[in-house]
Amino acid sequence: MSIISTKEIFEAKYRISDVIHHTPLFHSESLGRAAGVELFLKAENLQKTGSFKIRGAANKILAIPREEGAKGIITASSGNHGQAVAYAARMCGYKATVVMPEGGSRVKADSIEEYGAELLFRGSASEDRISYAKELCAERGAVYVPPYDDPLVMAGQGTIGLEIMDDLDGVAAVLVPTGGCGLIAGIAVAVKELNPSVAVLGVEPEGSNSTGVSLRVGKRTALNTINTVADGIRTTIPGEITFPIVQRYVEDMLTVTDEDIFRAQYLILERCKLLAEPTGAVSVAAVLSGVLPEKYRGRRVVAVVSGGNVSMEQLRESLNQPCRL
Ligand SMILES: *Cc1c(COP(=O)(O)O)cnc(C)c1O
Repeated sequence: MSIISTKEIFEAKYRISDVIHHTPLFHSESLGRAAGVELFLKAENLQKTGSFKIRGAANKILAIPREEGAKGIITASSGNHGQAVAYAARMCGYKATVVMPEGGSRVKADSIEEYGAELLFRGSASEDRISYAKELCAERGAVYVPPYDDPLVMAGQGTIGLEIMDDLDGVAAVLVPTGGCGLIAGIAVAVKELNPSVAVLGVEPEGSNSTGVSLRVGKRTALNTINTVADGIRTTIPGEITFPIVQRYVEDMLTVTDEDIFRAQYLILERCKLLAEPTGAVSVAAVLSGVLPEKYRGRRVVAVVSGGNVSMEQLRESLNQPCRL
């Protein structure tokens, strides 16, 4: 038994359906043809707050009893999860506090403040932020909302899997950008429990491949250094409760280079008119770079484009180098 099943994911679907978008699944003829597959993009870059993270955050925060939520919601993520928590907390009328790294991204800080959250800065390592956020929770009686290692968060992310299975027949594989594994674990439970013949594969940057390493070693294994442009998945170790689900349901982990990621981001914009952040483009990078196993040739492949939060400066940089399909 997994810690969650499709039951929790269907509950999440009903809990968050008024909050989130059921995002479109776009068929990309040109990218698919170049890669030799029938390619579909699950456009979570068009999701509320610009990434799928609102699904898990809203599912968690809506499930908190009002008297607890009234004491406040706290998280430690600087990026997409921080924005999602700020948005969902405001929607429920709760005060949110987001602990960011000192010197963290100004664009993200601005957006978190726009959603009405209190912003605090602490250290540069994620452990410093998380332990400070947990101290604050203990002090204030507030609720901590983790970015991935939580059953309700995972179940929320899993609603993407339900939408894919509802919207498309004959899917051979679903490709998922992978950090702490909340996204892929949720999707894998939904997809594999509805149709075990569909493969779920994770994609990581070469310089941040802790889940691939952990799968091969057979236990959660931490990396000493992280080096990738994909700032949403700079995770040193997969989650404690997410990883067993990955071991059970995920067929394989693929890796891509930063160059593959930039190229995919460019081509998704040029060909599909979709703006992905680098992290959101890693699934398409796997398809275009040819690391997808040969057995998927000519078959229906869904690449989850997980987010689109990119600053205009970053975008200008990525577009500097022209790319050809
Ligand atoms: C958080 C995030 C991921 C990875 O999700 P995990 O649950 O940590 O594996 C992928 N893409 C984007 C855009 C994200 O923000």
